[in-house]
Amino acid sequence: MKLVRTISDIRERVATTRAAGHTVGLVPTMGFLHEGHLSLVDRCRELSDYVVMSIYVNPLQFAPNEDLESYPRDLEHDLAAAEQRGVDLVFTPDDRELYPGKLTVAVTPRRLNDRLCGLGRPTHFEGVLTVVAKLFGIVQPDVAVFGQKDFQQAVLIERMVADLDLPVRVDVAPTVRESDGIAMSSRNAYLTKEQRARALSLSRGLADAAAAFRAGERDAARLRSAILQTIEAADGVDVEYVEIVSAHELEPAETAGEDTVAAVAARVGSTRLIDNVRLAHPDPGLAKLL
Ligand code: AMP
Repeated sequence: MKLVRTISDIRERVATTRAAGHTVGLVPTMGFLHEGHLSLVDRCRELSDYVVMSIYVNPLQFAPNEDLESYPRDLEHDLAAAEQRGVDLVFTPDDRELYPGKLTVAVTPRRLNDRLCGLGRPTHFEGVLTVVAKLFGIVQPDVAVFGQKDFQQAVLIERMVADLDLPVRVDVAPTVRESDGIAMSSRNAYLTKEQRARALSLSRGLADAAAAFRAGERDAARLRSAILQTIEAADGVDVEYVEIVSAHELEPAETAGEDTVAAVAARVGSTRLIDNVRLAHPDPGLAKLL
């Protein structure tokens, strides 16, 4: 596995790979890798010949009061995990490489930012879209793989690619969970044992809604209440939102259907957690709980 830190080095490697007739896939991450990230590598491998993973904690997507400084990092572990999973090249730029000066231009969502995570984190998706656009410009992948775990992010990236005619295929892979149902996240590392037990209420709530949907419940207000009830029963979970929305427009639904997503964000202590489920198509880890 190759490790490169500069834009010029990765451009050279990718050009050589392409010249040999190989397609290139990209898995962008902020590191502290877990099985969720590595499942994206597997998916990327199915879709491309040469798998690039970026590991970069992007300051642009953190607000000043957020956890940029404390965000968990372990490059040594990440490199071993990526290599074991068959990543061909890891790109780990530093801040000076990606942001050598003040940005004059950024990618700002005009729509779909005024809801869900965009409400509590109004500048977050601008930071995400800008770094992803930069990574697309640097790596020029044929395909890029993202996780359903960050559902609004995946939708906004799909929209960016469509609206700006970027020549990359975006693929969204299912959320990977621990055996008890909790969605894997680098931020789970912040949780104490007791907080983790409380955090389980997010996936349990979503599982309750998916089970109710399976049993025929279609009323979005009742599905939402079921989730809230489960989360509120676990003391010490501070709900930011629970929403039942359409998968592409992120519009609040009155009636749930094929294309409806239940999404939650909550704080346990100071750790902000998100999770979601496509009610008609729960990911395997959540379906197991139904
Ligand atoms: P992050 O390192 O948190 O920025 O995540 C990098 C990529 O991994 C994003 O596309 C996430 O959606 C995806 N990801 C994070 N957690 C999971 C998970 N539990 N299952 C699947 N994908 C995930």
